[in-house]
Amino acid sequence: MATELLTSSLLPVPHGFATRAGGVSEGAFASLNLGFSTGDERARVEENLRRFAAAAGAPLGALCRVSQVHGDRVLEARAEEGSDGLRPTEGEADGLWTQAPGTWVAVGTADCVPVLLVDPDGQRVAAVHSGWRGTDAEISVRAVELLVARGARPERLLAAVGPAIQRCCYEVSDELGQRFAARFGDEVVSRDAARPHLDLSRAVRLSLVRAGLKAGHVDVLQACTACEPGRFFSHRRDAGRTGRHLSYVLHRF
Ligand SMILES: [Zn+2]
Repeated sequence: MATELLTSSLLPVPHGFATRAGGVSEGAFASLNLGFSTGDERARVEENLRRFAAAAGAPLGALCRVSQVHGDRVLEARAEEGSDGLRPTEGEADGLWTQAPGTWVAVGTADCVPVLLVDPDGQRVAAVHSGWRGTDAEISVRAVELLVARGARPERLLAAVGPAIQRCCYEVSDELGQRFAARFGDEVVSRDAARPHLDLSRAVRLSLVRAGLKAGHVDVLQACTACEPGRFFSHRRDAGRTGRHLSYVLHRF
C-alpha cells in the first residue's frame, strides 16, 4: 500500500498528515510508524521515514523534528548544510517554525492535535503538537505570536488542524471538562454521556481565531484517530502501545 498523506486545500505550500499506510512496521506499529520512542524496531522506523520523505518529495536531511514534552515551547528550525541522513531533534519543544527555504518541520502525534501554520506574506511555516496540555497552554497561539513578532499579520495566516481524537472518543475527567468549558466555552465539551467528552480540535480552532486568524482561514480535518484503527494510530484506543504519525509543512513558496 502506498504512503497516504492527507492535505488541506487551504495551505499554499507542500504539507501532509501521514496515516498508517505505506510503511514496513508490523503489529501494533503497522505500518508507517514514524516515532522512535514507541518500542518499534529502529531500522523499520528509519525505513518508514525514508518512505515518508519520498512521499513528501523532500530530502530527509532537511526534516526538522523536536523531542516532544507536552509543553508550549516553539523553536526555530534553521537550514543545515550537507547532511543527507536524519537530523537529531532540535531540542525539547512541541512546535517548530522555519523561514529557511527547503526546510520542513514536523510533529508526531497519535490522538493529539497536529497544527500546521503558514504565513504566506513572510514566507514562514510552523508545525505544532497540541495535546490537552498543549491546548490548555495554547501552544498554537505561541506559534502565531512568534510569526507575528516577525511581521506576520494574524488575519493573513492560514492553519490546518489535522486528524486527532475527536469528541466521539475523547472521554475526560469532570475536572478537565470543566477546565476546558471555562476556558473555551461549553461548545468544546459534550455532557450527553456519563462523563464529559472533549473536542480538542475545536478548542485549538478557537485559540487560533482568538489569536486573530480568520475563521475561514482555519481548516479542521474531521477524521477521528480513535474511530479508524485501520487508518490511524491512537494512543487512547491502543492503550499506549501504538505508532506515531508525522504531520509536516515544507518551506517552499
Ligand atoms: Zn471517534
